[in-house]
Amino acid sequence: MNDTEPIAVLLVRGGTLPHGADEAVAEAGGLVLLAGEDTKAAAGLLTTATRVWTVETGTRPPGPLATALAPLLTDRRIVLLPASPDGRDLAPRLAVALDRPLLASALAVHSGGADLIGADGRTLMDAAVLGPFVATLEPGLRGAEALPESPEIIELPPPDRSVGPDAEQSALLTAPPGQEQLDQAARIVAAGAGLGTGELTGQAAIALLEQVGTALGAAVGATRVVTDAGWTGEERQIGTTGVVVSPELYLAFGISGAAQHVGGLGRPAHLVSVNTDPHCPMTALADLAVVADAPTVLAELARRLTPEAPRD
Ligand SMILES: Cc1cc2nc3c(=O)[nH]c(=O)nc-3n(C[C@H](O)[C@H](O)[C@H](O)COP(=O)(O)OP(=O)(O)OC[C@H]3O[C@@H](n4cnc5c(N)ncnc54)[C@H](O)[C@@H]3O)c2cc1C
Repeated sequence: MNDTEPIAVLLVRGGTLPHGADEAVAEAGGLVLLAGEDTKAAAGLLTTATRVWTVETGTRPPGPLATALAPLLTDRRIVLLPASPDGRDLAPRLAVALDRPLLASALAVHSGGADLIGADGRTLMDAAVLGPFVATLEPGLRGAEALPESPEIIELPPPDRSVGPDAEQSALLTAPPGQEQLDQAARIVAAGAGLGTGELTGQAAIALLEQVGTALGAAVGATRVVTDAGWTGEERQIGTTGVVVSPELYLAFGISGAAQHVGGLGRPAHLVSVNTDPHCPMTALADLAVVADAPTVLAELARRLTPEAPRD
């Protein structure tokens, strides 16, 4: 694997590629190291790779995984991971293990650094680096064209399991209904700016949304406008610079459907949009479009679904 060409690194879970995999591989010029479980099956899912190295590491915490992978990557000037949840966990640890800087949240990388998306999500910065670096690439922004040829696949021996310390898992806690991690939720009710337009404040609208979410067994998500306004925490932001989700049911209240939001939405089997604008992108995408005032619809749903609410 000794080469100065850039390389993408993808963590594979049960043969499944992370969000943004093909974009990261395309940005790295087609070269990729797949680590994790069922990496050969995952290699067959890539559409932009020219050469794939696979290494079966099984599941292990990101610290030991980074220590195990670092020797395979020392000669690579640019090591690129998608800014998926696993990519964001592994990248800083790889940067430490490789003793080089991390350029997080890139739109593109080049030999002298990366174009980074600023913390406000609206500005671009040119980060210049003299030596080698690790970077994460924001999914959903670059796009990637599929290549006609299948890639060359090279299997590497599994690395030593005993390397590297990391935090120990003491218990696995299950979140209460409606509060599970967004990226694992099968149902999501989500708030956009349009939900805070009625008599309710933004925070009160979110509290009502949480009630409805609990009644439906759905997690609560939000757009960036909503998290920026502080109505709910940033961990609830869905989109290319937030959590990437793949629910079966998505209920969007007052969400316009901007590309950066929809880019993190996956492909819900059932998408409902409650919006006063019948022509906004979210309504155009929806299976069921409710053209109505979002706070009013939410209040009515809460009245009907919450146990203490009076029934008609
Ligand atoms: C680099 C970058 C990264 C970004 N990343 C993300 C991201 O990860 N996630 C994300 O969400 N955004 C992201 N954004 C922001 C994104 O571009 C949009 O600004 C944002 O998604 C819009 O949120 P919204 O739909 O809540 O608000 P708006 O676009 O303002 O839409 C509000 C909607 O509410 C409707 N409405 C108004 N009043 C009512 C009412 N009474 N009842 C019902 N509907 C009503 C309107 O018709 C409209 O459709 C990013 C932007 C940039 C530049």
